[in-house]
Amino acid sequence: MSRVLVGVKRVIDYAVKVRVKPDKTGVVTDGVKHSMNPFDEIAIEEAIRMKEKKLVSEIIAVSCGPAQAQDTIRTALAMGADKGIHVEISGSDYDTLQPIHVSKILAKLAQDEKADLVIVGKQAIDDDSNQTAQMTAALLDWPQATFASKVDKTDSGLTVTREIDGGLETIKCKMPAVISADLRLNEPRYATLPNIMKAKKKPIKKITAKDLGVDTTARIRVVSVEEPPVRQAGSIVPDVDTLIAKLKEGGHV
Ligand code: AMP
Repeated sequence: MSRVLVGVKRVIDYAVKVRVKPDKTGVVTDGVKHSMNPFDEIAIEEAIRMKEKKLVSEIIAVSCGPAQAQDTIRTALAMGADKGIHVEISGSDYDTLQPIHVSKILAKLAQDEKADLVIVGKQAIDDDSNQTAQMTAALLDWPQATFASKVDKTDSGLTVTREIDGGLETIKCKMPAVISADLRLNEPRYATLPNIMKAKKKPIKKITAKDLGVDTTARIRVVSVEEPPVRQAGSIVPDVDTLIAKLKEGGHV
């Protein structure tokens, strides 16, 4: 049976209106509601469903981030993960943490934990990078099945349906492998109160990137972060004729 490592990132909640800091160095995170990255809930759910089908023996939820990343791990444990690993990275080190660093951490942990499957979200909704699955697979030299909307375990490996432009692609790959979860893979469950209580007793190991031999020195420097341009105000026209006349004027018809 497989051992699965799942990456769970703590991000600003999807429903929050994100604000840029006045000095343009980043976005305001203090006092802002954070949650598990929505695609990572889907990744955890898929691992749990595989465990329920007895295809998986243990689910390990990993989060790289400041102390509060433990809350995200607890959510994963309450949903059904077995244990957590918190790779503590905080302050300015976290501000400059990139998918390449996370990928190196996940690749090292996959080896240390003898995992044969890594599931991550297709992208983190804060940095929108969509790089971690691909780089983790490359570092491990494992096959990758990204943007998965259906995963079936077969005797020889995995059959994965992928969401691609204008359709679906079905691929087969051997295990060990890396999967990234797309929106339609499943509908994640809510943690029930008894499971939230049980999750408090599940173990979370705390380590640093250094313990894993991963250098998290920044590779890029953020020059500036800006709000998207404000939309121009529209105008109201009294009738269809005026609308058509205006469109002609503007060269749209
Ligand atoms: P990204 O490549 O940054 O868009 O992230 C893709 C996926 O990688 C996320 O959905 C997570 O599953 C995983 N991931 C990224 N950053 C972290 C992190 N700091 N801790 C744990 N998992 C992460």
